[in-house]
Amino acid sequence: MSISLRPFLKMGRKIGQTLLAQDCLLCQAASGEQLLCEACARELPFTASACPRCAAPGAGMTECGACIADPPHYDASRAAFIYAYPVDALIQSLKYGGQLALAGLFAHELYRRIGDSGSLDLIVPLPLHPTRLAERGFNQAAEIAKILSRLSGIAMDTRLARRVRNTAAQTALPWRERATNMRRAFACDGDVSGLNIAVVDDVMTTGATLDEFARTLKKSGAARVENWVVARTARDV
Ligand SMILES: [Zn+2]
Ligand SMILES: [Zn+2]
Repeated sequence: MSISLRPFLKMGRKIGQTLLAQDCLLCQAASGEQLLCEACARELPFTASACPRCAAPGAGMTECGACIADPPHYDASRAAFIYAYPVDALIQSLKYGGQLALAGLFAHELYRRIGDSGSLDLIVPLPLHPTRLAERGFNQAAEIAKILSRLSGIAMDTRLARRVRNTAAQTALPWRERATNMRRAFACDGDVSGLNIAVVDDVMTTGATLDEFARTLKKSGAARVENWVVARTARDV
């Protein structure tokens, strides 16, 4: 990550001090009660067209070649943004800078794009391994999911599934090793027979983690698994 997070961390402290009137996280212009000013919010890298199955940007409205050749276990994916500046820096700021207010911004943007999803029964945040959770103090996916659950009125379950293997960070591995790294990383303790589940996560890269999680949920009976992610990387990143 080449972007310096220092300005974001500094701004994080500032947010704690001023709850109502505040400055835009990105350009420091007055932004009222919002984290970003209107101009910056408008310029965030939204996804125009994407594969409905894996949310890879630029694939048009039909399933991309990769999904047709090797169908993932999940049925659909929705992303609010393309993983590019400044969304990448904002996500890093949420995860490693503890800027939890960003979970609200991401949830609202995601919900605005998902709209009324109709037939979903349950929202499940991608579980973090207990060791990782203890280090970070929170699961960013759960923070976003909590607000999505409130906005959509769909119940959330954070205890349904667990991460049982503290896998190597996916980003440290070549793409072809990511699926192997994730194998049997999750366990689902509940019966989700016939349920339509939305899985919430911050970033979707190869989709290997979400694929393995969807496989776990389907093994426990889930009828349909859909991913709701804040940002999706372009395929060649
Ligand atoms: Zn701004
Ligand atoms: Zn696809």
